[in-house]
Amino acid sequence: MGDERREFDVIVIGAGVSGIYQINRLVDAGFDAVVLEADDDVGGTWYRNRYPGCRFDSESYTYGYSFSKELLDEWHWKERFSPQPENLRYLEYVVDKFDLRRHMRFGCRVERMQWHDDERRWHVSLTNGDEYVARFVVASVGPISRPIIPDFEGKDDFEGAAFHTYDWPKEPVELAGKRVGVIGTGATGIQVIAAIAPEVAELTVFQRRPNWSSPLNNSEISDEEMADIRSRYDKIFAACAASNGGFVHTPIWGFWDKTPEERRAIWDDLYTQPGFAILAANFGEIFLDEDANREVSEYIADRIRQRVDDPAVAEKLIPTDHGFGLQRLPLETNYFETYNRDNVQLVDVSEHPIERITATGIQTTAGHHELDIIVYATGFDVMTGSFDRIDIRGVDGLALKDKWADVTTTYYGLLSAGFPNLLMVAGPQSVSGSTNFPRAIEKGADWITGLLEHARETGIDRIEARSEPEQEWLDEVVTAHERLLFRRSKGWFTGYNPNLPGRGEGTVRYHAYFGGAHRYAKKIDDLAEAGYPGLDLSPSRVPQL
Ligand code: NAP
Repeated sequence: MGDERREFDVIVIGAGVSGIYQINRLVDAGFDAVVLEADDDVGGTWYRNRYPGCRFDSESYTYGYSFSKELLDEWHWKERFSPQPENLRYLEYVVDKFDLRRHMRFGCRVERMQWHDDERRWHVSLTNGDEYVARFVVASVGPISRPIIPDFEGKDDFEGAAFHTYDWPKEPVELAGKRVGVIGTGATGIQVIAAIAPEVAELTVFQRRPNWSSPLNNSEISDEEMADIRSRYDKIFAACAASNGGFVHTPIWGFWDKTPEERRAIWDDLYTQPGFAILAANFGEIFLDEDANREVSEYIADRIRQRVDDPAVAEKLIPTDHGFGLQRLPLETNYFETYNRDNVQLVDVSEHPIERITATGIQTTAGHHELDIIVYATGFDVMTGSFDRIDIRGVDGLALKDKWADVTTTYYGLLSAGFPNLLMVAGPQSVSGSTNFPRAIEKGADWITGLLEHARETGIDRIEARSEPEQEWLDEVVTAHERLLFRRSKGWFTGYNPNLPGRGEGTVRYHAYFGGAHRYAKKIDDLAEAGYPGLDLSPSRVPQL
């Protein structure tokens, strides 16, 4: 790396789903851009999350990039919800097909970024001591890329293997004959638990709060079906763009116009349909009306009771602190049946908390569990965590982490006042956290590319969001959020994470816009159309040659 160039028009941080698309757009638009990626290859979340059971819960053919007909025609999704190894292969294929690797540098973890107003450039420092300089930085750092292992006493004493799911080793992990403990039953825990249970000698699941979960209903995609999907791609992407969640599913309305029997019949059907149909093709009222939500929650609870042999275990798996669909819904394959296996034990750590990790296992207030492997499926510092771990200093040395310490404010999730020329392709308060991710980031990256083209065409070299529109956007984010029953639940939708200081009970952080993908897209398109109101666009002070 010693003699490589370090000055660019644009630095993109991260070579995951959003960084790959962003660099492709920038290169196509003629920008001198580079990607700095901390890992040693492309893929981001699909590079890191190698745990067994990891797969899409968006329909595969709605997750792929939509920008190239040739790519759409070439790629065959083999499963409706494609697994991690295949997803990584897809991203590698895209990068190679569009020859993007030559714009990427690996092993480059950004540690610090300092805005220099006199130069109107960012100075970007890496952990290896290298420094890059660029007019613009696009952070494609991933909303769910900062893993958190709780600060359990004795964590380092454990003599077996222990890792967070995000850091599941690249080398195969020998599970056969092992006593494995999994802490956490979020979307990740639910996938890994069901996948490894048949393989391990003993599996102990340490559950604090149960999550609602419903069947993924995965299946293979035949050549014929893939040909049909290809012929309908335009319609599929148009349906995603027109929907609230960026999925192919559309909600129905009229909950109270149906009899309870009619509603149950609809849910019987939805429960067997693939993916998020049970959520996104359900009655819209379940997100707004407590009685409607209670009824659908009871329906799903009954389904869990039917699937789990031991009634006491079934009750422990049914959430009582939030209704169905009011936290991020994990989708599962044989998850509930896993608890019918003789080698699987559920430990309720809300009743008997984990006291400490020992050399040989996990000690709860009720007893000790001997383990060979501990899997931390304990989640992430979602949305702002991946920004906070970079020391980002804007105008007058303001730290982004400090600006966002109590209240996160952004300009439509795309910029933040005080941090000129820093663009966020999947930033907090965009729809990247509330909708089908690739659909959201294509929109975000297109918008960012459009803004940079506008700047180039009009001789602008400093772009900064003003504070007032950020406040207005926050008000809108809050309104969209408070309208929904999500407002009552604890989870990363509301910034709740008791593993992080100041983010426990009573936390409300507005990290995602729940007004819908369609509305969001229209809003940011309107901004571009209107010449970017709310942004200070400063002409270059250097005469153009
Ligand atoms: P998560 O939803 O935050 O779940 C973390 C789990 O760890 C929760 O069950 C939590 O319990 C538990 N936990 C945390 N600290 C604990 C402690 N000190 N003691 C005991 N239990 C503890 O994280 P995740 O499952 O990794 O999922 C994060 C997000 O990643 C998802 O919401 C989703 O957006 C994404 N994801 C997507 C896919 C996919 O697309 N297929 C798959 C996996 C994940 P509490 O609930 O009590 O806090």
